Amino acid sequence: YSNKMELKFLSKSQNESFARTVVAAFAAQLDPTIEEIADIKTAVSEAVTNCIIHGYENKIDYIILKAEIEGNKLIVEVIDNGVGIEDIEKAMEPLYTTKPDEDRSGMGFTVMQTFMDELEVESEKGKGTRVKMVK
Ligand code: ATP
Ligand code: MG
Repeated sequence: YSNKMELKFLSKSQNESFARTVVAAFAAQLDPTIEEIADIKTAVSEAVTNCIIHGYENKIDYIILKAEIEGNKLIVEVIDNGVGIEDIEKAMEPLYTTKPDEDRSGMGFTVMQTFMDELEVESEKGKGTRVKMVK
């Protein structure tokens, strides 16, 4: 890698915009287009929201955000130590949500996949979830 950052913040909804702004500022050194920045911000928001509402089920705990620049690529990781995902493949299907009653549409992972070049999800029940995205 040619640059790297790491950040730890509480799972509060006001930190969604904080996290996406930090990643956008970090990514600025790659001289991205406005569209690329918008895509990255959208993907980071979706990942952080998932930690807050699913991973920690709205309880307050730490989310870890890591970003790396490797050549002209940006790698972002969003990590929680929450409940984890039982079936990752199913969770990543468009329109699949475990919280339909709370106005979720099940499109978060699809959005991340669409706006980033690569998406990798690792999760263990009871241990937490790591989402890695590359653009
Ligand atoms: P939307 O993102 O459209 O509001 P959603 O969050 O349910 O709805 P996705 O973001 O695609 O949809 O996530 C799909 C499902 O994966 C969630 O409903 C949840 O069950 C599970 N999930 C996603 N992220 C996490 C996480 N960090 N911890 C635990 N479960 C997660
Ligand atoms: Mg979501």
